[in-house]
Amino acid sequence: MATLKEIISCTSGYDPDALPVAKANEVIRSFVRPVAGIEKLAVRAALGRVLAKDIVSPIDVPSHDNSAMDGYAVRGADLPRTEATAFTEIGAAFAGKEFAGAVGPGQCVRIMTGAVMPAGTDTVVIQEAVTAERGRITIPPGQEPGQNRRLAGEDLQKGRPALHAGRMLRPADIGLIASLGIGEVSVRRKLKVAFFSTGDELVSVGRRLKAGEVYDSNRYTLWGMLTRLGCEVIDLGVVRDDPKKLESAFRRAAADADAVVTSGGVSVGEADFTKQMMATLGEVVFWKIAMRPGRPMAFGRIRARGRSAYLFGLPGNPVAVMVTFYHFVRGALLTLMGRSDTDLPLLRAKAETAMRKKPGRTEYQRGILELKNGEWSVRITGAQGSGILRSMSEANCFVVLAHEQGAVKAGDYVEVMVMDGLV
Ligand code: AMP
Ligand code: MG
Repeated sequence: MATLKEIISCTSGYDPDALPVAKANEVIRSFVRPVAGIEKLAVRAALGRVLAKDIVSPIDVPSHDNSAMDGYAVRGADLPRTEATAFTEIGAAFAGKEFAGAVGPGQCVRIMTGAVMPAGTDTVVIQEAVTAERGRITIPPGQEPGQNRRLAGEDLQKGRPALHAGRMLRPADIGLIASLGIGEVSVRRKLKVAFFSTGDELVSVGRRLKAGEVYDSNRYTLWGMLTRLGCEVIDLGVVRDDPKKLESAFRRAAADADAVVTSGGVSVGEADFTKQMMATLGEVVFWKIAMRPGRPMAFGRIRARGRSAYLFGLPGNPVAVMVTFYHFVRGALLTLMGRSDTDLPLLRAKAETAMRKKPGRTEYQRGILELKNGEWSVRITGAQGSGILRSMSEANCFVVLAHEQGAVKAGDYVEVMVMDGLV
């Protein structure tokens, strides 16, 4: 496997002190490799987990041709062309209770949605289209042979992959797996992610604040994001800005977790002693990323007791933590989990107000996306300082202002990334 150094040497335009977001992600994605472990779970327990092997359909779904509507099953060849024609009703077919006989010329069978098509029939005329009188069913012209029939295997075909490895199982997927009669699936094991906050000024909730102290909120946002991502979390608490304590926290994380996410301690001034320590623990690079908020970040792999963990050293500012997590760590952790799809769509929305922006860095402003006059429209959530967590809390989207983009005028279109989805 390539070392970080080798990957970086193959990355064109790499400048650790002014690294575009896309370049940082390129390095991260080339370096991380999915975890190997697999476990077998009951279908419901696999919701939200990543499929480890393709699911090959053992049957056709549906398993028989069946009716898509309530009506009358007939032979398509018998359908009247020009004049309404009477058919003889010879029986009925229900979902789960098929019509046993065969249907001959001029005959029809009353059929319900989901019922197996009786032998000889290939067409269903809906009940609203016919007139029924004492077992005589009159069908008008204008019907198409083969209409209102669901074909065997039209949903899923026997022997073909119904779901591919690498996808996170959503409610539709677990339903689809159940529709194949499969009760257990192979998924990747959960990712173990350790996290801690660094800073001498940090106080845990429940204590009183003294002058110059702040409550440690990053451990809550990080816990929330990691939990939502489906990780098994290891909370290593607050670690003081003390090289010995930091080193022991990193060693513990490297031994116990697949990845470690920290906040604080990577900004200029603090980075120096972390850099020295990292040199002994593994391979870690320190970046200044061309982005806002964010900028300083450490990335690499650390080792302890014969094991290793990927390291994401995020900045300390509460908004910067979340933004760097969403735009670097999220994709990397999903890749580690074995996910093959990690990108999120960007939508176009009209900017309600002007936005200041300098070319040469990517900005992630926090926005509120709303439908106005039939069009998606976005406004910024007030002050955008990287310490103002309220700007994230009020937002329902990021306004993503690309690296090269300049200032935005009111009425311009911008790209937004929605924060929430369906359940
Ligand atoms: P640092 O990156 O360590 O220089 O921290 C930058 C800013 O973020 C400082 O104002 C810190 O007080 C603040 N900060 C760092 N860690 C946390 C945390 N865990 N919770 C809340 N604020 C923090
Ligand atoms: Mg700090």
